[in-house]
Amino acid sequence: MMHIKTQLEMHEYRATAGELSKRALRLAGSLAKPGVSTKSIDLAVEAFIRQNAAKPGFKGYGGFPASICASVNDEVVHGIPSPGVILKSGDILSVDVGANKAGWAGDNAWTFYVGEVAPEVKGLCECTRDCLKAAIEAAVPGNRLGDVGYAVQSLAENNGYGVVRDYTGHGVGHVMHEDPNVPNYGKKGRGVLLQVGMMIAIEPMLTLGTSQTHVRENGWTVVTDDGLPAAHFENTIGITKDGPVVLTQDEKGAWCSMQGGGEAKA
Ligand code: MG
Repeated sequence: MMHIKTQLEMHEYRATAGELSKRALRLAGSLAKPGVSTKSIDLAVEAFIRQNAAKPGFKGYGGFPASICASVNDEVVHGIPSPGVILKSGDILSVDVGANKAGWAGDNAWTFYVGEVAPEVKGLCECTRDCLKAAIEAAVPGNRLGDVGYAVQSLAENNGYGVVRDYTGHGVGHVMHEDPNVPNYGKKGRGVLLQVGMMIAIEPMLTLGTSQTHVRENGWTVVTDDGLPAAHFENTIGITKDGPVVLTQDEKGAWCSMQGGGEAKA
């Protein structure tokens, strides 16, 4: 079911769950350094969220066992943090995190460079981030979800990257997943009409090789079939009469540094 929000509700979302989710994401990025385990990042982020009168939205969601998704290299999404996964220079770490606060469900994601990352992998990450920007710009009232998906797909494929189709963005509100689904592919002028008051999470997932994926035996972690890297960026936005507004942002804005370990602790 699709819920239309008021301007005031969007403002509330941004001031509570949206802002805290971005701060949690920045904290995760600041910790993404060689020698650090993904579980230690998960624990630090969970503590931070709880210290701010909120709950980690992912913990227990559908049975997910942690507060962040930590997906390394060929892991696309839903990676489970582990003390045995130690980051090393050259890795990329995609962190997806949501804080639930004041009745709202935050959701945002970013891919961070761990140490020195190869230029071709940086290119993948930069293009995925640019796809997110392009998709947000296309999310204006009167456009359709096909225009948003087209923005991602065309930019990605023109640059030679794969677009993961098995997972999509989604409506966001009092719960993390509402209608509609927001695919990262599409045709201009097709699909659900974008209306003032919609809140959606846009989350392109691009791959260096094949866009085909499968789920590991743990039942969660999505990996590329060919073992090549994938990148994932996500913001939750609100559609207003003046255009799209990113709601997962803090005093530093809606975008994070991509270099892990490069920001002061949140
Ligand atoms: Mg999401």
